[in-house]
Amino acid sequence: MEKPKIGIFSLTGCGGDQLMILNLEDELLKLLSYFEVKSFQEASSYDEKTELDIAFVEGSVSTKTGLKRLEEIRGRCKLLIALGDCAIGGCVQAMRSQQMSLAEKMRKVYGVEENYYDVLEPKGLAAYVKVDLEIPGCPIEKNEILHAITSLLHGDSPETIDYPVCVECKLNEYPCVIIEKSMPCLGPITTAGCNARCPGLGLDCIGCRGPIKDETNATEELNLLLEKGFDFQYIANRLRFFGGNFDEIIKLTSELKKKAEKEGGI
Ligand code: SF4
Ligand code: SF4
Repeated sequence: MEKPKIGIFSLTGCGGDQLMILNLEDELLKLLSYFEVKSFQEASSYDEKTELDIAFVEGSVSTKTGLKRLEEIRGRCKLLIALGDCAIGGCVQAMRSQQMSLAEKMRKVYGVEENYYDVLEPKGLAAYVKVDLEIPGCPIEKNEILHAITSLLHGDSPETIDYPVCVECKLNEYPCVIIEKSMPCLGPITTAGCNARCPGLGLDCIGCRGPIKDETNATEELNLLLEKGFDFQYIANRLRFFGGNFDEIIKLTSELKKKAEKEGGI
């Protein structure tokens, strides 16, 4: 039987998701032996521009060059998989999205006009092309990518996680750090899959797996943290850290900012 052809690519990001694949030490060679690897940007300079069964793309679209590359990859693959938060929603690069225009940022930081550099507002892949599957994380979890790849090899689509970190916290019987320690945990609105790593260590979740798609109740998270005594600006910054491009967070933080400005609070 012919092996599926795959390519693993990077746009704007830290390369951490490809590194997690490389970190599958014990399974990696066996796993890759089931595929014909045509590109693996972080592992090899070999890059064969051919039709692909699956393209894994990490990183956000933050430049016109990156967008062109994404469109070129989409044009020659059957399945496109967004690998990690940058490829899903822009991640930390997008934390200042909607705060000021790109032109304003370029003027403030570099003293130049917007089109001087090859830049775009950082966005996930789905803002520009069809994405068939998203694997969250900053970086992705080793087990999750392993599970996704083996499911795809069997012709199945891996299930998407649509419940929060709190569920894993409860399953592990970890004490809630909001209740016990008044910490500003984002577990209630963050996509599970890390086995509640941070609360398990007595730390609050900073939301690194991104907000749960179409299920995030950012308003209630905000109210909860306001009740705990955190100020609006602190919470807004925290929500934007990994969720700057998520509609509900944009809407909520900009509405409240306007209200606070009117009342003279910010
Ligand atoms: S510690 Fe965080 S993740 Fe765990 S139950 Fe409390 S709010 Fe949820
Ligand atoms: S920050 Fe939250 S989502 Fe990220 S590893 Fe910690 S608990 Fe999991």
